[in-house]
Formats: sequence, C-alpha cells, structure tokens
Amino acid sequence: MTGNEIRHLFLKYFEDRGHTVVPSDALVPKNDPSLLFTNAGMVQFKNVFLGQEKRDYTRAASSQKCVRAGGKHNDLEMVGRTARHHTFFEMLGNFSFGDYFKKEAIAYAWEFLTEIVKLPKDKLYISIYKDDEDAFQIWKNDIGLADDRIYRLGEEDNFWAMGNTGPCGPCSEIYIDQGEALGCGKPTCAVGCDCDRYLEIWNLVFMQYDRDEAGNMEPLPSPCIDTGMGLERLAAVLQGQPSNYDSDIMMGLIQHAAKITGKPYNASHENDVSLRVIADHARAATFLINDGVLPSNEGRGYVLRRIMRRALRHGKLLDQEKPFFHHITEDVIEKFQDVYADLKTNREFIQKVVTNEEVSFNNTLTFGTERLNEILDRLRQENKTTIPGEEVFKLYDTFGFPVDLVEETAKDTGFELDMSGFDRAMKEQREKAMASWKGSGEKQIAPIYTKIVQEHGGTLFDGYGGTEGEGRVL
Ligand code: ATP
Ligand code: MG
Ligand code: MG
Ligand code: MG
Repeated sequence: MTGNEIRHLFLKYFEDRGHTVVPSDALVPKNDPSLLFTNAGMVQFKNVFLGQEKRDYTRAASSQKCVRAGGKHNDLEMVGRTARHHTFFEMLGNFSFGDYFKKEAIAYAWEFLTEIVKLPKDKLYISIYKDDEDAFQIWKNDIGLADDRIYRLGEEDNFWAMGNTGPCGPCSEIYIDQGEALGCGKPTCAVGCDCDRYLEIWNLVFMQYDRDEAGNMEPLPSPCIDTGMGLERLAAVLQGQPSNYDSDIMMGLIQHAAKITGKPYNASHENDVSLRVIADHARAATFLINDGVLPSNEGRGYVLRRIMRRALRHGKLLDQEKPFFHHITEDVIEKFQDVYADLKTNREFIQKVVTNEEVSFNNTLTFGTERLNEILDRLRQENKTTIPGEEVFKLYDTFGFPVDLVEETAKDTGFELDMSGFDRAMKEQREKAMASWKGSGEKQIAPIYTKIVQEHGGTLFDGYGGTEGEGRVL
C-alpha cells in the first residue's frame, strides 16, 4: 500500500463516518504569530476548539502538512538519527468539535488500524494519561485489551498542548511493537521508551482545556477530539519497513540523493544519516518556500535557512563541492505535485530561491569549514577540547558561518563550544554596532529574494514578529 493510497483510505474512512474532508492548511499559520509553523492537524481548527469560530460541520478529517523544526515541537536534531522523525511530515487526523468524544474516537482509531489497514492486534499497545480512568475503561471494556497492554504515562508524553497556551488535554496513544531487533535492548524498554521498538503511530487527544499564560486551565465550552497520525510512520509499518525513510514516500528521494552524490544508501551508517537528512530537509525546504517562507536571518525564515544549511553541510560530508540540493528539491516537486498542485505552479520560484541560497551558502561553507578545520587542528595539537568563544564568533562574524553548524561539527568531532565566550563577544559587537546604528528599519529579507518574489508575482509573507523565541538573529 503506497503513501498516497493510505492517505486516501484514511480520509475515505472518516468521510464515510460523517466527517468533512478539509484540505491541508498552509505551513505558516494564519493570524497566529505565537506559532512558528503548523505543527499538527488541529492548528487550523484552533479557534473552532476554543468556541470562537463556527463551521458548518462538527466532524472533520485532514491530511495536514506539518513542520516541527522550531518552537515547542522541534525535531530538527532528531532527523537522520531516529527512524521516525522528520522536519516536514503529513499528519492524518480526525476531529470532533463538541460532537463525539473519547469512546467513539478510540473505537474509530482501533477499527481503522485493525480492520481497514489490518495491523496485527497482538502487536498494538496503548498509552493513556496516568489519571485518565475513562480512557482506561474504554480500552479495557469496549475494545477488550488486557491490562498489561495499556500503559499509564505522565504529563510529558500523554498530555498534549499545541503551544504554551491554547487548547490542551490528556491523550491516548497507539503504539506498534516492531520487535526486539529495533529496540535498545535495555531491560526497561517498553512503551514510551525513546528507541524505535515501540513506535508511536497515532495520538488521540481529548481536548478538554484552554490554558492561559499563567498556566491556568479552563474547561473548553464543549470537549473535543483531535487526533494525529504520521502518514510516513504508518506507511513504513504497512510496507514492512523499519523506518519512515524506507517507505515509498521517502525512498525515491533518498535514492535520488544517493545517485547524485554517488554514495549508495545502506552502505555506511554515517552516509545514510546524511542522505536521510538531505531527503528530509529537501521536502521541508520545498514545502516551506511553497507556502511563502523565504530564507532570512530571523524568525521563520531563519529556521528555513537553518534547515537548508544543515542539508548543505551534509552534502559536504558526502563530498559535494558543487550545488546539488536544487536537484533534490526538484525531485520533491516532481513527486508531490499530484497531491499538492501548487508545487507545480510555484516550481520555478521555489527552484530559484533554493539555488540562490545554495550558491551563496556554498561559498560561506567552503571558507568557514577550512577556517574551522585549522582551528580544530591547532586545538588538537594543544590538547584542548573547547573551541574558544571568540573563535566561534569570528567564524560567524567574518565568514557568516552559522554557530549551529560549528556546534554540530564540534559535537561530531568531540569538541565543545565556549558559548559564554561567544555571547560575550556577540554582546561587545552589538554594543559597538548600536553606537554606530543609523536605524534602517528594514526587514531581514535579502533584496535578491524580494526581486524573485516580484518576478513571480508572489506575496512576501509578513509575520516575522513575536514567534516562539526561535527568532535568533545569527
Ligand atoms: P514522538 O514521541 O515520536 O516524537 P510525538 O508524541 O511528539 O511523537 P505527536 O505530537 O503526538 O507526536 O503527533 C502525532 C503523531 O504525528 C505521532 O503519533 C506521529 O505518528 C506523528 N509525528 C510526530 N512527530 C513526527 C515527526 N517529527 N516526523 C514524523 N511523524 C511525526
Ligand atoms: Mg515528538
Ligand atoms: Mg510521543
Ligand atoms: Mg504523541
């Protein structure tokens, strides 16, 4: 069963049960500067959950484009390392706005997984929020699961919140046991373990509260259901693959990256990590640009830039000297345009933005990497394991070499960064700059991107202020 078929089956299942199928919202949430990117299917329904907006339906289903690469849900560093995390992924979800609640939500999820896509019942495990007796009774009595298949987890895993404020509530998750071979082997390994043995596939959120800035939780006008299941995870499981990256959704991109770089997949662990990072980040970059985000030095644009630069650094690890990334984003457009038609319309625009960013960063990277290697060689000779803060700052300030890349390279090679020294140097520099600042008030978007947008008649996304603290200006 392909990813496309699964998406279709899911939406059809819920449509047949009275749900309105709603298209995916954009990755940049509308009128919500508190949220960096759409990170779950429920985001477009936030005001409906809060009772502030009415729709002409009380049940909905969607396959929502999500990015988790900044803010509260940030999986950027996980990508390539775990079998199950992407920065960009699609979340299948069904929603009830004051219509059905726990009993029906659990019954639907169980029926879909065991009757429609036919996952083996004996491999499925459940987690519930530790005090949620209702959920426990439903899984035990209605569904008929034995007590030892139901795990009680704490706030961190089983209490879902979109952000620091807003709708939230206890949840219940469905896991599949993928077998010992994928486990960490620790005696404590069970549902909720960080390894890949028990794979979380579906999260059923019982939305009951609205949390305010002080952390107070008010009951929502009427309890709602919000569920989310990773399409790539379900596809991998149904295709008998040990990782999302081996599903049909990602494999074509990985093979393409392998071909272009001349590094076969499944031949070396480190190369595989890089190929996965490149494939994943190509999807994220393509879809973010498609939804109006442009590389910049702050806010959402900074996260996009960081994603692209991380992919480009992995390209370097695979000995790519020339621009290569735009070939992979081209392939993303090719593979996803049948489902997301706007990729077709925006093809040329996306490719221009990617190519421009790639070429300019290539220069930065070449100089910066040479300089960093010199520093590391010197430190090794001096038997030191910490990169002085002033050096990190100089790399950033003189060569435009991003600190997070220095950090990653340092980690990979056993070095640490003197971040307080870096902060000191940065502060000094800022004070100097303030003293001579003329006050331009310009946005952080480079003129080249403004030009590309004008040529293509697009709109510049204008919502960079007040995001979730990810607007680090580097
Ligand atoms: P995990 O514990 O594996 O990080 P999560 O609990 O953070 O997942 P939820 O917030 O519950 O995830 O999201 C609902 C579903 O979306 C998950 O059950 C999973 O199937 C999918 N999902 C979450 N994060 C990712 C990701 N980074 N890449 C791919 N799928 C994801
Ligand atoms: Mg997570
Ligand atoms: Mg989880
Ligand atoms: Mg979860």
